[in-house]
Amino acid sequence: MAEIQLRNISKRWGSFVGVNDFNLSIDDKEFLVLLGPSGCGKTTTMRMIAGLEDATEGDILINGARVNDLEPKNRDVAMVFQSYALYPNMNVYENIRFPLRVRGIDPALHKERVMQAAERVELLDFLDRKPAALSGGQRQRVALARAIVRKPKVFLMDEPLSNLDAKLRVSTRAQIKNLSHDLAATTIYVTHDQIEAMTLADRVVVMKSGVVQQVGSPTEIYDTPANTFVASFIGSPAMNLIDGELMNGKFSAPNVEITGLIGRNGKVTLGFRAEDASVVEQCSEMNAPIYTLELLGDATMVSVRIGGQLVAVKADKTFRSDIGDQVSIHIPADHCHLFDAETGLRIQ
Ligand code: ATP
Repeated sequence: MAEIQLRNISKRWGSFVGVNDFNLSIDDKEFLVLLGPSGCGKTTTMRMIAGLEDATEGDILINGARVNDLEPKNRDVAMVFQSYALYPNMNVYENIRFPLRVRGIDPALHKERVMQAAERVELLDFLDRKPAALSGGQRQRVALARAIVRKPKVFLMDEPLSNLDAKLRVSTRAQIKNLSHDLAATTIYVTHDQIEAMTLADRVVVMKSGVVQQVGSPTEIYDTPANTFVASFIGSPAMNLIDGELMNGKFSAPNVEITGLIGRNGKVTLGFRAEDASVVEQCSEMNAPIYTLELLGDATMVSVRIGGQLVAVKADKTFRSDIGDQVSIHIPADHCHLFDAETGLRIQ
């Protein structure tokens, strides 16, 4: 069992703030994903939990005990890196066995534990091979086996799929989810890929410039993003955002007019998702020429240009039209999100 608490964690190098006042309680067996663009502080946060980086401020607790001053090897966490970090001169068996040797586990137990871990990630046929003779996906599975072999309380995974091709990424993602469920360990997983975050996480932490923007279940951050940054980072395509004015419940921007909204008068950013709007024969809410059409198989993505920016709407898969054709787009008021134009914070 492993609960982790991060209390006011900050990391500074000189005047540069890598992570700023991070606070979170991570439940036992939770799959937590740290998500954000490059440089937002995800890896630094994870390295502080692992003990590979000292926190400038704050306390890190595992099962209630402060671990800031504990060596990485004494924290009972296993880390899986993007680079795999395998030993090139050792074969697969020895690579998987390595953590057992380092931790002084009774050698009589090694073989069974290594074979169990190798079987779990389907590597039994490759035990004699050196890493150089493995594919990227197989190397990543060795890294996973090496992490699970010592049955740690906590798994830390830093972009473990980013060196794999798209197809392998999907299958390895499923394997990681299944593995973490089976092992019932607490997992903290770092990625900049929002689809990975949405598919794997019990909870997602969205970060930007070292600051936590929102913590919530994938559904919460998708349905009620806390600000325009989260709205534009989550979802494929991202939420459409249009700057305009709200006056007595009516939102107005060039070529856009939506009534029935709730919020105070003033400048706002209106948000709506591609799948919540629809292309219709005629309406007064949004009218614009088609910029591009993309066939997705199960739907057609229609993009129009509004005030210099693209707005995406999901249409039926049978929808056909030409670039430049004028279309009307219906945007139901109850699927609109409103954000403060200055702060970007959610209003409604
Ligand atoms: P990526 O997805 O690119 O790995 P990240 O979100 O994991 O990004 P971090 O590696 O945590 O980002 O880095 C956060 C910020 O701290 C970055 O701006 C980075 O340049 C900076 N940083 C990291 N390590 C150091 C260091 N040793 N000295 C100074 N700045 C650092």
